[in-house]
Amino acid sequence: MTRTLSLLTPSGRLTLGNLLGALRPMRERQEDGFYGVSDLHAMTTEHDPALLRERTVEMATLLLAAGLTEATLFRQSRVPAHAQLAYLLECTATTGELNRMVQFKEKGRAVGSTRVSLFTYPALMAADILLYRPEQVPVGDDQRQHVELTRDLALRFNRRYGQVFTVPEVATPPVGARVMDLLEPSRKMSKSADPSSGGSVFLLDPPDVVRRKVARAVTDSDAGMDAVRRDRDAKPGVTNLLDVLEACGGSAEGITTYGALKKAVTDAVVAVLEPLQVRHAELAADPAYVAERYAAGEARCREVTAPVLAAAEAAIGL
Ligand code: AMP
Repeated sequence: MTRTLSLLTPSGRLTLGNLLGALRPMRERQEDGFYGVSDLHAMTTEHDPALLRERTVEMATLLLAAGLTEATLFRQSRVPAHAQLAYLLECTATTGELNRMVQFKEKGRAVGSTRVSLFTYPALMAADILLYRPEQVPVGDDQRQHVELTRDLALRFNRRYGQVFTVPEVATPPVGARVMDLLEPSRKMSKSADPSSGGSVFLLDPPDVVRRKVARAVTDSDAGMDAVRRDRDAKPGVTNLLDVLEACGGSAEGITTYGALKKAVTDAVVAVLEPLQVRHAELAADPAYVAERYAAGEARCREVTAPVLAAAEAAIGL
């Protein structure tokens, strides 16, 4: 059995991209799956406490609604070992190393108001990983450098203080659907996109909102009989709509116009979102049940991570 670990940051609301690219593959691997809402990672940039709490609850509820009922679910902040081990890893990492992280360079280096936590975020991420001793960590390209750092820190810690951590391999994740922004199909549909922009379909968008967003999706001016076809370079918007249609179980057979394509995409997306939204509403009406599920998951996480933290503390001299 392979242990799978995945954290989603409540820095925005979950999108159709998250569902097709992350939640669906997660649902296929629930046995020994540890899936967390990384609320601590959502505080590395300016944040509103009430909004963070609201998004954390929504995301936690949506993970259950999406069918992750067998996995161990948790909120990162409720498993204190994450923050505790992160500190020991901050005492292992160097400023030179953290300064070289591309995300930090792009998002905050040389800006005086940047939070220290944005700089030290990779140490917390390394703790998230090392606490669960996964052998492999499947991550996308944007997180690859952070997992390489996690390996370096684990190796260094083991060499200096004794064999404590399993050094994880970086794995290429199974190819999930990659959903692009409806208005800017050259970039990924993102949960942190401006909610009013219309480029992201959120999992709790009602059918009429989905319809409106898909109707406004960028296509092109090709009006030929074969306009509805995949061509990632020349027709990124149309290709994205076809990908979404297929991933949502629809078919473009016989469709020749963009209007008909958009209608089919809307129907397919709504059909996928509807049961999820119904389940979400049921769960949202029973917050005690959701809280109980997470409390049980967090108790399990505390149990699983305690020996790793204890070994690290003992080795480093605490
Ligand atoms: P993020 O929302 O970028 O923090 O990513 C959380 C998870 O969702 C990761 O596993 C991503 O690969 C996946 N994901 C995010 N956006 C998309 C997207 N537009 N299409 C496919 N997968 C996505």
